[in-house]
Amino acid sequence: MATIQLQVVSPERLVCDKEIAMLIVRSTGGELGILPRHAPLVTGLIPHAMRIKLDGQEEQLMAVAGGLMEVTPKKITVLVSAAEEPEQIDVNRAQAAYARAKQRIEAFKQAPTQHEDIDIDRAEAALARAKARLIATRTSFN
Ligand code: ATP
Repeated sequence: MATIQLQVVSPERLVCDKEIAMLIVRSTGGELGILPRHAPLVTGLIPHAMRIKLDGQEEQLMAVAGGLMEVTPKKITVLVSAAEEPEQIDVNRAQAAYARAKQRIEAFKQAPTQHEDIDIDRAEAALARAKARLIATRTSFN
């Protein structure tokens, strides 16, 4: 089976370095599936749960915050501000971050002029990171 090397790097550590069969990511331009021998590419990544296929069947999830992905025919480098494998995620913390961001966004939408202190872009980004972590741990939210 053909494989491609996946390296995921955060400011703190090398989160993952392994041979995989396929990576499915959400880029700034939409969803992308990366197979071995993919054409060279550099793109932005938005916060989401990446899908890593190790072989025909098994699929692993990994939460990533925003960043960049570089693809060459033999290697994928994902350079993100944070990344966690499901077992590294503190679900309670992600749920708290989700609730906090949701509450800020709702308050801002209800009365924008009364909430000029709320940075809506920051709240939306925090919500997206929390959602990525909850999806990666298969935790339901709404
Ligand atoms: P919080 O508001 O809970 O800090 P955040 O989305 O603002 O969440 P980030 O700035 O994306 O957090 O990440 C800061 C650091 O904390 C990174 O090293 C990241 O891997 C880690 N981290 C954030 N949330 C979690 C979590 N729920 N479980 C494990 N590690 C986490």
